[in-house]
Amino acid sequence: MAQQGEGGRPVESLTPRTSAPRRVPGSSPRSLPVLGGGASLTDTFGRKIRYLRVSVTDRCNLRCIYCMPHGMEWLPKAEVLSYEEILRLLRVFTSLGVTKVRLTGGEPLVRAHVPDLVRRIAELGGVEDLSLSTNGLLLADLAGDLKAAGLHRVNVSLDSLDPVKFREITQGGDIRKVMAGIDAALRAGLSPVKVNVVATRGVNDVEATEFARLTIDRGVVVRFIEIMPLGDSADFQDAKFVSAEEILDRIRSVGRLVPCEDVVGSGPARYYRFENAKGTIGMITPMSHTFCEQCNRVRLTSVGHLRLCLFGDQEVDLRTPLRSGADDDTLAQLIEYGMTIKPDSHHLVRGEPGCGLRALSQVGG
Ligand code: SAM
Repeated sequence: MAQQGEGGRPVESLTPRTSAPRRVPGSSPRSLPVLGGGASLTDTFGRKIRYLRVSVTDRCNLRCIYCMPHGMEWLPKAEVLSYEEILRLLRVFTSLGVTKVRLTGGEPLVRAHVPDLVRRIAELGGVEDLSLSTNGLLLADLAGDLKAAGLHRVNVSLDSLDPVKFREITQGGDIRKVMAGIDAALRAGLSPVKVNVVATRGVNDVEATEFARLTIDRGVVVRFIEIMPLGDSADFQDAKFVSAEEILDRIRSVGRLVPCEDVVGSGPARYYRFENAKGTIGMITPMSHTFCEQCNRVRLTSVGHLRLCLFGDQEVDLRTPLRSGADDDTLAQLIEYGMTIKPDSHHLVRGEPGCGLRALSQVGG
């Protein structure tokens, strides 16, 4: 059965398609170096790659103003990897040392039977940290099933606590559903539940203290993320940028903040806690302090391209060989080849012009 989008519309009936996947020069098996089969992926700069973000769909049931450019077209279903294809690739990734997997999109929960996919990933073995990013709209109904299937934790994106503002930012979202989703995730025992807030000037910077207060009574991790200039909305994002430092200054008015380091899957964030608070506050600073040196992640796009850097166009097409009958060794070699073209830092650090990305939803946020 097709899952329903916001307002009860079947997701499939929303504007279909995006541009065709790029062909990546040099990604054919013929150009591969001869590689050994160690259980560890290491790039040219010595970084161990253990973290894979898997975009299960390019579709979304929200249209956040800074995220979804106008005129986005959905991919035809046939271009998107099937669950069997995702699982086949994940088996190869885990054999190469990937231990951390995050399902994302688009909005992953608009795709039917995600708990089933989670269960099958958990059954693969080897994935020690299995998480999901969601806008939370469909989470209230699915949190229990996701936990039972083997999901460890969940990140919920939420950019305003004001129902009217939330509806404006998301172009139609109902905040009550998101809050119900967060509560259901806590009840189900998904842990930790992280609430991701993309800080935007004049939109939600004034709500920073309110967001921070959520951590006093709720055992959630509220993380403020600096907005990144991406694709079509880059001018908007530049104009709305607020540094994590400024957010931190605002929330100090709520109480004394103590630095802490005990957050699961903390990655490049810095964490703090109010004394006696149940939850934690995190700052993610892709713009003011980049963390390329510690980068341990790559992405699998919904069309089956291995994307080596969020901001770089370096990709390896895994879907074509997968659908042409490539064996696991060939797929592993292609993934290892990807490690040789992962850039040392992203173009924002190097001050170079942007990549061809129109929106984060295209590659998996
Ligand atoms: N639908 C899921 C969700 O809402 O979490 C997963 C995909 S969404 C693209 C992932 C995250 O990327 C969201 O938290 C969204 O706010 C964030 N995001 C999108 N565009 C961004 C940008 N330009 N800068 C920073 N974060 C962005």
